[in-house]
Amino acid sequence: MITHVGVVGAGTMGVGVSQAFAARGFRTTLVDTSDETLDRARAAIVRDRRFAGMLGSASPCAPQEVMERLSFTTKLEGLADAGFVVENVTENMEIKRDLYRALEDVLPGECVIGANTSAIPITRLGSFTRRADRVIGTHFMNPAHLKPLVEVIRALHTSERTLRTTLELLRAIGKDSAVVEDSPGFVTNRVLMLTLNEAICLLDEGVAAAEEIDRLFVRCFGHAMGPLATADLIGLDTVLYSLEVLLREFNDPKYRPSTLLRRYVDGGLLGRKSGRGFFTYDT
Ligand code: NAD
Repeated sequence: MITHVGVVGAGTMGVGVSQAFAARGFRTTLVDTSDETLDRARAAIVRDRRFAGMLGSASPCAPQEVMERLSFTTKLEGLADAGFVVENVTENMEIKRDLYRALEDVLPGECVIGANTSAIPITRLGSFTRRADRVIGTHFMNPAHLKPLVEVIRALHTSERTLRTTLELLRAIGKDSAVVEDSPGFVTNRVLMLTLNEAICLLDEGVAAAEEIDRLFVRCFGHAMGPLATADLIGLDTVLYSLEVLLREFNDPKYRPSTLLRRYVDGGLLGRKSGRGFFTYDT
């Protein structure tokens, strides 16, 4: 039985994923490379739990109870008895490769790794380990603690047992799953990233202002938020890296990232997490 879950990467996704587990009773360890990032993640989780308390969310756990189940560390050794690890580090193949190799030396043999990548093929990530049968894609949506469905990706070598374990664990934290086969970007991001990129191209060409582009999607199609606000929520760096992965993997120019997107990322305008992207936010 899994009692301890590791979450590696304490950025936008790590904050949501770790509290999703801790709020449902799992001892959860959040790992990142600096104490500063972990402090920021802790503060974000405290804020989210207070907010969840005010809204009377589906897991009415006192914020303090959730925090007591969470540990924060810069050392992978903190995962030495984890039963499941969700990997959410930066969308970069080299960073992920080095991490998967390092995890192999630390994790118990039976531990499953759920890769929360936006676009990198899960079979590739599995190849960086000696446990490809215990590597699976767990593509959480953002914010992970609030979204009801996880896209689960079965890689070439993912075992039936790993799939079963993953689906049970997701059920235990109140998440439904949709199982898909391994392909760059899976189902969601192969479609979503093209849409976001095209919306950014429209903005760059001056066809419409950001507010108007988003308003059309919200008012005409009933989307909860428009493509530019969605890109800001995801993080413009993550959108850019995901498009670069899709471009490389499919070798199809339709995934070529907009130059405006690149300019924003170069200039540190990363969306919500930096306070400014296509829109501005309180940080
Ligand atoms: P982010 O940039 O907000 O956070 C990434 C974190 O990983 C950073 O805090 C960084 O310090 C940390 N990190 C980098 N190397 C590390 C290492 N070796 N060990 C520990 N921590 C390390 O990015 P994010 O938006 O949280 O995305 C993380 C992953 O989740 C990416 O693969 C992304 O594609 C995927 N994802 C993102 C979203 C989204 O909406 N943002 C949704 C689903 C999946």
